[in-house]
Amino acid sequence: MNKFILNELLKKSHSLSYDIILKKLNTDRKKGLDEKTIEKYSTLYGRNKITFENKTPLWKLFMDEFKSPLVIILLIASLISYYISKDIIESSLILTIVFFNAVFGFIQNYKAEKSIEELKKYMVTKTKVIRNGTMKEINAEELVVGDIVYLEEGDKVPADLRLLESKNLYLDESMLTGESEPKLKEQDILDEDTALADRKNMLYMNTFVVRGNGYGVVVGIGENTEFGKIAKSLKETKETKTKFQEELADLGKKITYIIGGIISLVFFVNLLDGLTLIEVFMISISLAVAAIPEGLPAIVTLSLALGTKRMLKKNILIRKLPVIETLGSVDVICTDKTGTLTENKMHVENVYIHDESKTDELLKNMYYCNNSRKSGNTYIGDPTETALKIYASEKLKENNNERIHEIPFTSERKMMSVVIKENKKYILYSKGAPEKIIELCNLTPKEKKKLKEIYEEYSKKGLRVLGFAYKNIRKNESNKDNIEKNLAFLGFAALVDPPRKEVKEAIKRTLNAGINIKMITGDNILTANYIANEVGINGKSIDCSSLDKIDFQKDYQKYKDIVLNTSIFARATPEHKYKILSILKNEDYTVAMTGDGVNDAPALKKADVGIAMGIRGTEITKQVADMVLLDDNFKTITEAIEQGRTIFTNIRKFVNYLLSANIAEVLVVFAASLMNYVALRPIHLLWINLLTDGLPALALGNDETPKGIMNGKLKNKKEKIINQNIMKDIIINGFTLSLILFSLFYYYSSNLILAQTVLFTSLVLFEFVRVMAVRKDSNVNIFSNIWVWISVLTSLLLQGIILYTPLRKYFSIIPLNIKDITIIILMSILYYL
Ligand code: ATP
Repeated sequence: MNKFILNELLKKSHSLSYDIILKKLNTDRKKGLDEKTIEKYSTLYGRNKITFENKTPLWKLFMDEFKSPLVIILLIASLISYYISKDIIESSLILTIVFFNAVFGFIQNYKAEKSIEELKKYMVTKTKVIRNGTMKEINAEELVVGDIVYLEEGDKVPADLRLLESKNLYLDESMLTGESEPKLKEQDILDEDTALADRKNMLYMNTFVVRGNGYGVVVGIGENTEFGKIAKSLKETKETKTKFQEELADLGKKITYIIGGIISLVFFVNLLDGLTLIEVFMISISLAVAAIPEGLPAIVTLSLALGTKRMLKKNILIRKLPVIETLGSVDVICTDKTGTLTENKMHVENVYIHDESKTDELLKNMYYCNNSRKSGNTYIGDPTETALKIYASEKLKENNNERIHEIPFTSERKMMSVVIKENKKYILYSKGAPEKIIELCNLTPKEKKKLKEIYEEYSKKGLRVLGFAYKNIRKNESNKDNIEKNLAFLGFAALVDPPRKEVKEAIKRTLNAGINIKMITGDNILTANYIANEVGINGKSIDCSSLDKIDFQKDYQKYKDIVLNTSIFARATPEHKYKILSILKNEDYTVAMTGDGVNDAPALKKADVGIAMGIRGTEITKQVADMVLLDDNFKTITEAIEQGRTIFTNIRKFVNYLLSANIAEVLVVFAASLMNYVALRPIHLLWINLLTDGLPALALGNDETPKGIMNGKLKNKKEKIINQNIMKDIIINGFTLSLILFSLFYYYSSNLILAQTVLFTSLVLFEFVRVMAVRKDSNVNIFSNIWVWISVLTSLLLQGIILYTPLRKYFSIIPLNIKDITIIILMSILYYL
């Protein structure tokens, strides 16, 4: 079939019977495609991928560097200056330095973009597909036309599919149709002119399954899908600016005004001293280029971007850049238990059989009331069910009965049921939380009490307990949803799910960092308490069913008091999670919250830091989350917070460094001009800017995690990068530095060229002393971070080269002798101490 016919098929597939489609695509409902056809189709029809066409071309990124009005004015001024003075060397040197500055800025932006792009590679959608007769999980990109896809709750539809079979299948198609109400999907044949939004036998790429499950055959991939058609005409959404970037852009503006004011004074004072207009103009503009920190937001972006790269190595996938700064101020983590605190590698430890004669029914229940599937040597599915399936398969002789109906598991119901046809009989098997199952069984109060004692005994040991029941039903009941009653109790299975070894230490560190931890689990209170105790979460626990007795609206205060004073929430539903989150947010806490199921999506959206699980999380939660734990491990949350704090501290460090050094620069030139001296030439200022602004700041932005960063709180939500203390530090240091530098200049002022050379060299050296001082204050090992050293040493080397080689004449400087150098070094040591 050629592409054209395929497109026709795609357009019409809602109006064709699926048999025709399967036949045309040469695929099989039960077996799927074979290897050969897969290969053929993927070469014929391409990959299931949409490429956005809005990547900024490199030359444009480079030209952006020259957009700053200051740089444009500087370039024009240097051309005019050449025209007047005919000093080709100075003018071309200025142009060269400006060019290198642009190159440097370009590399920064390019690296930032690359790191962000790198993250996208990890945001792949997984999908379950039947190929060669077995179900496997593959990346959605590998899908081809004709593949048979299985979808269940929480899955993202990976391509455009024609539905083959479904059970209670509801989709959220809001991203395509704007309609937020989930749509029921069924596989009837429709009229050809049925509108897209009404094609209930079609599943469209990037919509989500919110309930039920089903099979579909891929009819459209990549840019041929309905989503692909819109996406091609849309631009990829740009990342929104982070608060840091906004704060710094704002701060940059304020500083521009202040420095601009001082520079205007320099301008007039120098003019009065008889320099030519163009000379004064060049000095002022160069001073502005050197001292105004217009590159700050770009350095912040790059530190955030490089931060995401480091985090990725630690299994943290940042989906939304602004979350990095929120991470630094998290003060409550709401975590689930299974898989995050525990290993989620379960096995059946104990089985309680209620009636020996029904042992087979119990095993059949475990086997059939189960959606875990074997795929090669492993299983695809929920670890609880996998454990039960493995246990039952080993003991069960026959397992070929047909499943007629399923009433799915939800976190609200905490149970599930299936109807099985065995010969001519129809049997309902239910399994779920023990108290739910017991409630539905025909048992005397005495029996119920005894069973409660049994499962509580297991739970106290930290085991995860499930109850099992069954009954025979009539054929006409076999597809009904209200049959889960009057059941016969079969027994319990107690599963082990040990805590992850590394979690205890991580929890200790988190608590030590002044962060509160709340465990919110669907499991039983005794199991929850046991695990909490094992990992070191202390405090009150509550069974959330007792919260339901309190009216959230009317008795809000009471609800709130309980929530604030409780650390362990058992038998919680997604709705409880949402309410707990709302309370914490109302109380102005910064909350990080984990979630894996489809109904956790609203809470993840609302949380300050919504965390999805990379392995067991549903696609919908990954989509809305700010961050994904690629290893599902609680420890990774602690690491993310540590990284968030580190990045915040580093940004503070380079802002402090850049601003204090720039203030000093401007003040010295200003003070000298008041005394009728031209302290530095334009070329000096631009050179200093090239050496000291970019590299060291960037190196600081990537500094290691300071010791003790997880001791106590770092900052609260509202605290800015520049708080009062930092501001004080910047001003005091700026003034001290300028005082020392000016004294040096003054000391040599009888020989202006020498004085200029000393000041020029001292500025380069002193800015590095500032780097060291800022690092010393932040508690990092002085010898760590090779980049700081590389940037410092390179710049000193370059300064040495222009001082002691003939290049110096282009800079109008003279070589300094040992005595002068010693004086400068002594002064810098004095300052450092
Ligand atoms: P957490 O919220 O910490 O991940 P959880 O996995 O126990 O904990 P849920 O998945 O909501 O939370 O499960 C709640 C309860 O429902 C479980 O304690 C168990 O009793 C029952 N349950 C879990 N999985 C199934 C299942 N596949 N079939 C039937 N019942 C189940």
